[in-house]
Amino acid sequence: MEKTKYSIKNHSKYLLIKFWLISTFIITVLIAQDKVLYLVNEEPTKMKRSDSEWKRILSAAEYHILREKGTERAFTGEYDGHFEEGTYVCAGCGNKIFESETKYRSGCGWPAFYNAIPESVQEHEDNSFGMRRIEITCSKCDGHLGHVFNDGPQPTGLRYCINSVSMDFNPSDKEEQK
Ligand code: FE
Repeated sequence: MEKTKYSIKNHSKYLLIKFWLISTFIITVLIAQDKVLYLVNEEPTKMKRSDSEWKRILSAAEYHILREKGTERAFTGEYDGHFEEGTYVCAGCGNKIFESETKYRSGCGWPAFYNAIPESVQEHEDNSFGMRRIEITCSKCDGHLGHVFNDGPQPTGLRYCINSVSMDFNPSDKEEQK
């Protein structure tokens, strides 16, 4: 009788431990899954910097255009009449935004492209200055780049009108070997 009592007590202890282990396991799995979901849902490698960090990193002109949505004066930009082979990157974070093959002479006074590198830029409605425009920002650092209009050449019919100050240029390997 004594023995049976003992084994029942032992058995319930065993059940309790088993229950505890299983629930710990389930909770761990749930936490892990949540973490995975969080990672999947997170925006792809957004660069977040404080305003003072941007001020320290960027030149005054870059800060004004990229962070304060400024615009350089027409026909003054470094890349307006620039037609070398290579890739244009965001001056704020180095994100590749335009290929030289898509650049064309629009005559508008700013560098113009008929297409952006996929997922490199984001569009936002911009109703400032009494105009309805589509603002273009860098998808990585949210820096202001310029605007996109519907009067571009084929194949897209788009004109990405971009501030030179918002970009840096990386010549292609072919160009570097010259
Ligand atoms: Fe950027």
